[in-house]
Amino acid sequence: MSFFSGGTINYKSRIERAEALASRYPFTKEILGFYRPVARFQQELYEQLPKLWGKHPRVPADGNLRGPLNLPILVEPFQKFLALIQAQGPGPLAAEARTMAQRAAEQWAELLDEFWTNGMQELSENESGNPLDEFLARVFLLPYAEFIAGAMLPPVPPMTVCRCPRCNSLPLLGVLRPEGDGGKRMLQCSFCSQEWEFRRILCARCGEGAEQKLPVYVAEQFPHIRVECCESCKHYLRTIDLTKDGHAIPLVDDLAAIPLSLWADQNGYKRIQSNLLGT
Ligand SMILES: [Zn+2]
Ligand SMILES: [Zn+2]
Repeated sequence: MSFFSGGTINYKSRIERAEALASRYPFTKEILGFYRPVARFQQELYEQLPKLWGKHPRVPADGNLRGPLNLPILVEPFQKFLALIQAQGPGPLAAEARTMAQRAAEQWAELLDEFWTNGMQELSENESGNPLDEFLARVFLLPYAEFIAGAMLPPVPPMTVCRCPRCNSLPLLGVLRPEGDGGKRMLQCSFCSQEWEFRRILCARCGEGAEQKLPVYVAEQFPHIRVECCESCKHYLRTIDLTKDGHAIPLVDDLAAIPLSLWADQNGYKRIQSNLLGT
């Protein structure tokens, strides 16, 4: 297995997993009920991208995921996306999508461009701007980032770093993948979903390496999700343990783990980077 694994994007599995988790955890019905049509939209865009790209070819700069955004191919899909959010999104988000749809194309092109250039690189406490707009840009551009990272760029050389070696974003999750008798910890990027290998006993935010400062909590309700905390920087990483549940789809299982966000809040730990739905 290569140090840097790409090509694991599978929307069909994400959607099926969201259905399975919604029946297992009734409290996720609403959140995953909204995620499913969103993921179906992302899937459609992801699958259309090779063809759209062919119509307006752009060559990304050497290994740089965040080269200029290919805006001409995104205009029509973004209009469709705004229509979907207006129809299916929760109230405030639907209203924001309506406002956005009424703006000139240049204005939302600017939003997408800004997010593409700077999004997910800052720590949450420093983030500014409108969180609803950021949600729209993040959800819409995810399949685009995944497509470029997986299909168009050469592999990244091995390195243990706290930010995605592909696009400099913060990790969304840890993923423990079975290897030998144990698991190998990967970090999954919050912007382009690529994974890179990361040492098991190491804070992914501040680099703390002393085991006694890195407590791990596992809730009975989610035996396959580790809340990996750091006493030095008071942040945590949520790690999906595929050695405990091989059917888990990290990005989706994370969305279902709402009680773990509440627990972390109450215990004074901040997440390194929040997920698509802001938890
Ligand atoms: Zn990335
Ligand atoms: Zn730390």
